[in-house]
Amino acid sequence: MASLLILLGAPGAGKGTQAVRLSAALGMPHISTGDLFRANLRDATPIGMKAKEYMDAGKLVPDEIVLDMLFERVAAPDCAEGYLLDGFPRTLPQAQALEGRLGPQDKVTVLELRVPDEAIVGRAAGRLVCRKCGATQHREFSPPKTEGVCDACGGELYQRRDDTPEVVRERLRVYHEQTAPLVDFYSAKGLLASVDGSKSPDEVFQELEAALAERG
Ligand code: AMP
Repeated sequence: MASLLILLGAPGAGKGTQAVRLSAALGMPHISTGDLFRANLRDATPIGMKAKEYMDAGKLVPDEIVLDMLFERVAAPDCAEGYLLDGFPRTLPQAQALEGRLGPQDKVTVLELRVPDEAIVGRAAGRLVCRKCGATQHREFSPPKTEGVCDACGGELYQRRDDTPEVVRERLRVYHEQTAPLVDFYSAKGLLASVDGSKSPDEVFQELEAALAERG
């Protein structure tokens, strides 16, 4: 039996930040399809080359590419007991493909981070990501103690290529069109808990832990 945790939310809603914390607290591997694509891009693999134009434009990478990459990753031994998904699924066919792979004993919990659209562009556009540990900071809301250096691990902070205001707006549009329907999909199955993602990272983390404790 495996335990799956899915984080749903718009770009910049705080999925990455909370995924790093939850993964440490629960001892579950953190699987981010965005991180997997960025690693493929950096290593100039065929998957990275295929994904690049979609990522740069703020569009979704086609389902079949995402599914092959994700299912290969979660077949690794470290995912046997469960894993935390950040940025997947993002379309109904992805959610259905994931469901098709699960056994009857597998347990799925979906945590939605709700953040109003007005807050999203500012959040994503100031975001800084650590190349080493993946932690996220923000130029304005949580500036690093030393510029360009991750507070958590000392790694190098960088700005994602798709965190410009124009691309963030397109990612938000795509989120509403293709990913937001998953809220109803999982809610109808009784698997969804939503929390207010506009609070501070500590408060959001506490709410997520409380939602998980409630579900047992
Ligand atoms: P993220 O880091 O989750 O914001 O993902 C960055 C980009 O990678 C997205 O804007 C998409 O282009 C691509 N991507 C990541 N996950 C998925 C997914 N599940 N389906 C399609 N495209 C994805």
